[in-house]
Amino acid sequence: AANTVPTAGPASQAAFHRARQLMPGGVNSPARAFGAVGGTPLFIKHASGAWLEDIDGRRFLDYIGSWGPMILGHAHPEVIAAVTAAAQRGTSYGAPTEAESELAEQIIDAVPSIERVRLVNSGTEATMSAIRVARGATGRDKVIKFSGNYHGHVDSLLVAAGSAAATLGVPDSPGITAGASSDTIVLPYNDSAAVDAALQQYKGQVAAVILEPVVGNMGLVPPTESYLQDLRKLTAREGTVLIFDEVMTGFRLALGGAQEYFGVTPDMTTLGKVVGGGMPLGAYGGREDLMSQVLPAGPVFQAGTLSGNPVAVAAGSATLKILKQDPPYELLERHGEMLASGLAAAAAKAGLPHQMQRVGSMLTLFFNDAPVHNWDDADRSNRERFAAYFWGMMHQGIYLPCSQFEAMFFSRTHTEAEIEQTIAAAETVCAALA
Ligand code: PMP
Repeated sequence: AANTVPTAGPASQAAFHRARQLMPGGVNSPARAFGAVGGTPLFIKHASGAWLEDIDGRRFLDYIGSWGPMILGHAHPEVIAAVTAAAQRGTSYGAPTEAESELAEQIIDAVPSIERVRLVNSGTEATMSAIRVARGATGRDKVIKFSGNYHGHVDSLLVAAGSAAATLGVPDSPGITAGASSDTIVLPYNDSAAVDAALQQYKGQVAAVILEPVVGNMGLVPPTESYLQDLRKLTAREGTVLIFDEVMTGFRLALGGAQEYFGVTPDMTTLGKVVGGGMPLGAYGGREDLMSQVLPAGPVFQAGTLSGNPVAVAAGSATLKILKQDPPYELLERHGEMLASGLAAAAAKAGLPHQMQRVGSMLTLFFNDAPVHNWDDADRSNRERFAAYFWGMMHQGIYLPCSQFEAMFFSRTHTEAEIEQTIAAAETVCAALA
């Protein structure tokens, strides 16, 4: 049945059938296989602005935005021009370029915590490397992370990563040794007393606290009042490196990310998604004394054949330039409020228990009757209802993230008319679900 949901067209069905014989589950990253909602993923042939077109020739309003990067909309002309020009000069040299310094300067200017930065190829590489630097710099082994926070598929961080309930150091995947995760302490999100207690219990042993300052990976969960400030104080007290994983929030909530938005400066920051303008690029950075630990300035090893790739750097640099010159954040806030209140009203009108949670252009409609502050709260959401809502919206031409535990993203190119169209679709779908 999983492969016969009628909402995917015949061309996507055939393409998925072929892909499943070639790649595990037919995909190169699991979320896009639609496992959480059941059914066949749409195969995409074209994207422009707020719209996706699948290989059956159907058009959808896109609320995934490549899971975060496409804040300017798909195929922004200036980004495409920069990528094209860079590709014509050669796609990779394995040698330094001035364009890397340009992008590094843009990042350092924008992100309060970053004094030095290293470019990598993904968010996973960024978090893996930041953890290594924190351990190298402090000489400590343990890391605190929070259940429901995802930091990529780093062995030591793939613990209670947006899917499993909070447990101490039990990996989420076969193939991760107990040793790789045994120095990982998992705590509930939005509970600074738990962090205080763990820092006391493991005094002098905790290298880093890593978190999503606004969580996108258990659905959208904002930090509660003073949570980020509390973590800042506690980690400073213990000499523990505070790492904000801003792979989703960086350049999205504000040019300087969640740390600018909330006015709390961590010691290190990891970036991905928007920073690469839709190309494979991540970054990690922070205080000069920490980043000077990285090879060849210091002893902590980290490298990459394609790191600082000229085509990826061109896409990222063009994107950040536009975001700085013509900031979309007020517009995104206004449109976010319109979208969130409309989607919530549609659910309310149909009498469906729900929670709308939003920060800027990231949001989630939880089918849950109480606010979601952490993974245990999120876990009480009605997944079956979400799956029905997802396919209903798809049928109306609205492409949502295919899990209750993923945030919706929209871009600067989503117009008021398109948001109204989305809300009208939600009214139809919610009425049918009631
Ligand atoms: N950190 C966060 C907060 C993320 O959302 C993600 C990806 N969704 C990652 C890290 C990993 O990034 P990547 O998929 O580029 O490896």
